[in-house]
Amino acid sequence: MKKDRRKFINTALMGVAMMYAAPLSAGRKVKSENDLQKSKPWIEISRSAYLHNAAQISKMADGRPLLAVLKNNAYGIGDVEVATILDQSAAVSGIAMVRDDRAIALRSNGVSKPILLMGDFDVELSQALIQHDITLSIYSNATFEKVKRLAKSTEKKISVAIYIDTGLGRMGIPYQEAIQLTKKVAAVPNLSITQAFSTLTTPQDFAQEQIRRFKHITLELGRNGISTGIKHLAPSSSLLDLSDSWQDAVRPGILLHGSFPLAKMEAASKYPMQIPFKLKAPVIRLEKLKPGQTIGFSRFYKVQKNEWIATLPIGWADGYDSGAENGAKVLLGDRLYPVVNVNASHANVSLGENTPVKVGDVATLIGPERPEITPEGFGTLVKRHNYLQINYRESLSKKIYETF
Ligand SMILES: *Cc1c(COP(=O)(O)O)cnc(C)c1O
Repeated sequence: MKKDRRKFINTALMGVAMMYAAPLSAGRKVKSENDLQKSKPWIEISRSAYLHNAAQISKMADGRPLLAVLKNNAYGIGDVEVATILDQSAAVSGIAMVRDDRAIALRSNGVSKPILLMGDFDVELSQALIQHDITLSIYSNATFEKVKRLAKSTEKKISVAIYIDTGLGRMGIPYQEAIQLTKKVAAVPNLSITQAFSTLTTPQDFAQEQIRRFKHITLELGRNGISTGIKHLAPSSSLLDLSDSWQDAVRPGILLHGSFPLAKMEAASKYPMQIPFKLKAPVIRLEKLKPGQTIGFSRFYKVQKNEWIATLPIGWADGYDSGAENGAKVLLGDRLYPVVNVNASHANVSLGENTPVKVGDVATLIGPERPEITPEGFGTLVKRHNYLQINYRESLSKKIYETF
């Protein structure tokens, strides 16, 4: 938690620094970028774009609220940062996490909306989870026993969610056992069932069958006088193409980041989503290489003619997709340049025979500025899945802007 606080303070301080930098006119060097980030990559986050995306998604689901899935460090963008922004969104009714410590970290950083923990929890963290009003998922007999013991140890009412496996086969109570187990949960005095959920698969006919299984369970429980609270089923993919999946709330992850599920990457331009983050890194080295010279351990890139090569201090160890060397581009100034090599900590960009680029200039590797560098554009150029693309390491510093 100490670390999270530090991260938060860092972000806050950078926010202040950016406020000072903001009055500088466009085209001038943004002072704080050079002052704060001489040699490391970073992520920039647009508050207005995240709020826009949340509102748009709710609109797409006919006004239903969102349970924003910010697992895996918000897919690498920064869970505390994105949660802090979405905490202010009228379209977001809650935040869903997979890791217990990260759910607590959101609270420690001031997030106040309801938080659902969809994954397991360590017994050592259980009191903290209860004190922070984090809804615990019951996804098996074993978790039920664990939560029941917890209910005996506290005066506080514990909010629980019934997580049902209707066919994804990964998490949840097998649907055939869900009614029976939920009845047991409802009988424990200190437990309050506030939500019931499941996750849909992508084939539509099977998703429809999953919805039928889910509805049968919740209706049957209702007939027995057991309310299952807010019901939600839809990750981004179902949300986009199956209105039956919307239920009481929708549960998007990737869409919030303005990105689309694998099979729907090409649909990006049809929806009014914004890319709410940028991945940036400064040029730390510029050298003119001669024909025949090579770059990288494997001598992956062979220089064909006299060519300026820029080195950026970002590599696959930072979460930058190593596939970038197979066709990705980065924006430097107002031009796109090809990425020609990616190692663990560095990436190289070819600038051609003559270039206006200087050491210290900042490259945008991912961002909304050009179609080639959006997550979808990047994924298309390198023939990779956009989910894998935005998977940055927690160590990248973050800066929050009001808008891009
Ligand atoms: C990851 C996840 C989501 C969100 O999925 P996206 O495809 O990113 O929208 C929703 N529900 C559950 C249970 C998840 O694990």
